[in-house]
Amino acid sequence: MSQTEIALNQSRKEPPATLGLTAENLYEKCMALARNLWWTWQPEVINLFRDLDPIRWRQLDHNPIALLSEFTPERLEMRAAELVLHSRINHAFRRLKEYLSETPLWGRTRSGVLGSKPVAYFSLEFGVHESVPIYSGGLGVLSGDHIKSASALGVPLVAVGLFYDQGYFKQHLDINGWQQEEYINIKVENLPMEPARGPDGKPITVEIQTRTGRLLAKVWLMRVGRVNLYLLDCDVPGNSPEDRELTARLYGGDNRTRIRQELVAGVGGVRALRALGIYPGVYHLNEGHSAFATLEATRMVMKDDGKTFDEALREVARHTVFTTHTPVPAGHDRFDRNLVEEHLGPLRDELGISLEQFMGLGRVEPQNEHEPFCMTVLALKLSRHANAVSNLHGYTSRRMWSHLWPWRVEEEVPIGHITNGVHIESWLAWQMQQLFDRYFPVGWMSRMGEPEVWQAVHNIDPGELWETHYSLKNLLLAFVRRRVSRQCRRRSESDEAVEAARNILDPNTLTIGFGRRFATYKRADLILTDLERLARLVNDPQRPIQLVFAGKAHPADEPGKHLIKRIASLRHDPRFAGRVAFIEDYDINVCRHLVQGVDVWLNTPRRPLEASGTSGQKAVLNGVLHLSVLDGWWAEAYDGSNGFAIGRGTHHSDPQVTDARDAADLYRVLEQEVIPLYYDRDIDGLPRAWIKRMMNSISSLAWRFSAQRMVADYVQHAYLPAAGGTSCDMNFR
Ligand SMILES: *Cc1c(COP(=O)(O)O)cnc(C)c1O
Repeated sequence: MSQTEIALNQSRKEPPATLGLTAENLYEKCMALARNLWWTWQPEVINLFRDLDPIRWRQLDHNPIALLSEFTPERLEMRAAELVLHSRINHAFRRLKEYLSETPLWGRTRSGVLGSKPVAYFSLEFGVHESVPIYSGGLGVLSGDHIKSASALGVPLVAVGLFYDQGYFKQHLDINGWQQEEYINIKVENLPMEPARGPDGKPITVEIQTRTGRLLAKVWLMRVGRVNLYLLDCDVPGNSPEDRELTARLYGGDNRTRIRQELVAGVGGVRALRALGIYPGVYHLNEGHSAFATLEATRMVMKDDGKTFDEALREVARHTVFTTHTPVPAGHDRFDRNLVEEHLGPLRDELGISLEQFMGLGRVEPQNEHEPFCMTVLALKLSRHANAVSNLHGYTSRRMWSHLWPWRVEEEVPIGHITNGVHIESWLAWQMQQLFDRYFPVGWMSRMGEPEVWQAVHNIDPGELWETHYSLKNLLLAFVRRRVSRQCRRRSESDEAVEAARNILDPNTLTIGFGRRFATYKRADLILTDLERLARLVNDPQRPIQLVFAGKAHPADEPGKHLIKRIASLRHDPRFAGRVAFIEDYDINVCRHLVQGVDVWLNTPRRPLEASGTSGQKAVLNGVLHLSVLDGWWAEAYDGSNGFAIGRGTHHSDPQVTDARDAADLYRVLEQEVIPLYYDRDIDGLPRAWIKRMMNSISSLAWRFSAQRMVADYVQHAYLPAAGGTSCDMNFR
């Protein structure tokens, strides 16, 4: 980028992030810390909150606002005096203020051109922290990690989504292992949100006309470091009782609920930004769910600049970036024409096009009356910059959507890829971070995207690395025992069962973790293919293994629930009792414990259906070795010495053949590679070769699969070209 392009235009229309940081006393300072989700990746601040009341902290899902609301300012002062917290609170508060007022160099020089016109990042879920449950799984956590890293790099970006006051469901299993879903109303006053205000200082409400009525949504502001996250919420007085529930649940309801939610997020989201005085230079659609945003943006360009529909559409497409996240058909929303006309009809009138023309925007064959309206197709047509989320997923996506460009050969289908990454500060264990601090170059946390920084991991004393891992493993086991015994109590099981749960698993046994959504393609049961063989491995007297599972099935996914039942029921099989655990209610907190504490992270998707996967990236940061099918990110990450591979990176057209081959290879790798390597100890009891592999894994993978690298790639290959309205340069595959 040339100097002239670096427009250091700081006239952003958003409220400054430092607003409200005028705290006088200790209580206000703690509240100010709690009200910016920056604290969620600051171990120092997390420890501070925990120290205030460790038991309530855990019971309240690590929600500092809920915790502080149980204190009066006087009691907090007393508690702080007791624990000598004053200087820690003052220090944390000062650091937050500094963080919010500095503009990181990287963002200033690399994305300055975006300055006055930020990226508007749309996603239907955001997983920032377990205390803000408006996410379901990987997509949401990725959005959360994206905005955290955008904040770190200083990329001018605002995020837009929906606020679900019941969030996603809480999972419990009944006595038979069958999943029960419970929805709990979130207390809004306990969340770090406030009404978003327009330039006139008034709270904002957006309005959307449909053919059958009018939808209203209020707008919340949540602060995630330097990034503002705006969440639309239909629970407002002017809506019908039914519409007030529209945004109550994530992925709840039928297709009609779905299109209405997507209308609010997309069209409502763009209107909210306008009401806030924010004029985006780039629209980033994180998944097709929010693609209606492009049509509202088109309407605005027509109205503001007097352009024709075609001109305006092209203009918007030049500024739009679209990321597709799954090759699984159910992941792509499709709506019939009645639903589309009912909800988009009034907008279509303003665009001045016919219903057939409109439907054509969401069809592969525009004239095909039988084809429904697909949000992914709309997003692909309305973006000049489309990308998949791993190299392999790029190939899969180009093949999957090649019929949209029938005149092109597959390699020329304009879908590139930017591989996902994770926000290191959020997923790296604090103990591990402290170890790295002692061996890594000073200031390494601000240079995490650089490979050289991570080479220092090879200087760490192997014994120390192993000890750190071992202590994290013990923390995990304590967590598992606590949760599993609580699960037993909740099901009113016998005292013996509860007591047994308090003693399950053994810290010296090779521990394999599996935590993810129980979608069938993820094949949680692949390792159960040959139960006899698994039982032999689990009960090996010298070299046993044990397994910890966690994950939710979508409420409508019966096969997924059967998988859970099968795994949860293993505890009744004497061969597996005390050796296999299922932790209910998988969320960011459970995931964090698992990826920091197991020895091996198991990933067994049916290739090529795992677009990227990110939980394995969280695990490798912590020295946990990845054992995975060569799918998603692992297909480009595995180098033979930084983890373990299942299969050879091929798949059969018959899924049954693929499954059988993968299962056989999984057992082979376990028996011949993983288990021998883990139990091969020197005279100090250290598994030298294993530790070496942990180091290889960290040094070769952490920087590459970090969200910093990912966001930097988006800036360079997608945001800057889109801001300039130039064509895509993302096809660098
Ligand atoms: C990281 C994460 C995921 C994504 O895991 P995959 O590897 O993509 O399956 C899902 N759920 C939670 C709670 C996570 O933290």
